[in-house]
Amino acid sequence: MSVLVVGSVALDSVETPFGKADDTLGGSGTFFAASASDFTSVRLVGVVGSDYPFDRLQALTKRGIDISGVERADGESFRWRGRYRHDLNSAETLETRLGVFSHFRPKIPAQFRQTPYVFLANIDPRLQLDVLQQVEKPKLVACDTMNFWIESRRSDLLQLLKHVDILLLNDAEARQLTEKSNLVKAARWIMERGPRHVVIKKGEHGAFMFTPDAIFFAPAYPLEDVFDPTGAGDSFAGGFIGYLSQKGTIDEAHLRRAVVYGSTMGSFAVEKFSIDRLLEIERRDIAKRLDAFGRLVAFESDPPENA
Ligand code: AMP
Repeated sequence: MSVLVVGSVALDSVETPFGKADDTLGGSGTFFAASASDFTSVRLVGVVGSDYPFDRLQALTKRGIDISGVERADGESFRWRGRYRHDLNSAETLETRLGVFSHFRPKIPAQFRQTPYVFLANIDPRLQLDVLQQVEKPKLVACDTMNFWIESRRSDLLQLLKHVDILLLNDAEARQLTEKSNLVKAARWIMERGPRHVVIKKGEHGAFMFTPDAIFFAPAYPLEDVFDPTGAGDSFAGGFIGYLSQKGTIDEAHLRRAVVYGSTMGSFAVEKFSIDRLLEIERRDIAKRLDAFGRLVAFESDPPENA
């Protein structure tokens, strides 16, 4: 099985308490693709400007990611500038420059249109809708969004939700979208508008998955050194959808494991700037961390004795 992802392919400039990096490879599509490629074959669709160091995308090709759907257009690449202070859970956006994304109309190459798993990474909901009109009966459609689009494209986003099976977003975005402070209520609100499943990520506090019958929770891996949180959400989505696509089954047990794979991949992404750590890790690193997750939540139950 393979995954088609459309999302931003960006140049990020990021400041964290531990350092600063300018014009690094970033974007929701890029992080997702780098993470999902550990599980499945990935087809990336997006656009970059004439200033983009296109050669550097070869790092993705080396991992088997098909970048033939990344267009090169005249103009400036998408640029995001952000800062994290000591609370590494929330990014402060300093600048978003859409550049070539403002006139982009995704063209899904004919050979990608029947991809069974589709991930609409964080980008203008109008583009996400556009992609859905071009794909042919995918087995699963999942999507992400962020405050920028919830504010500026709310009605397009609500229209999109009608066609989505799984929405992944963080707690602040869920509250902003639904205007509900309680996350259980927020998830219900979303599920009444289309998605059958909702994953609400809470940064270093883990992630909830809401399904029609149950709520599942997985912690985030307690890392001692979080270096740069950028891309954690997209990498989570890459692990989550990548695993589901590899297995080809979308039942409760697989969805629960997918959340843990998501958390695992998010934990790698934050260890270095950009996609650097994702490009380094091997399957055995993922397996080791997954084991550590198992130990983190394992305990033997010992019922209370009668008083
Ligand atoms: P996250 O996984 O939520 O940390 O996403 C980080 C990535 O989102 C960065 O690499 C940015 O380039 C990208 N990004 C930031 N703002 C936007 C936006 N408005 N639309 C699409 N992508 C964005």
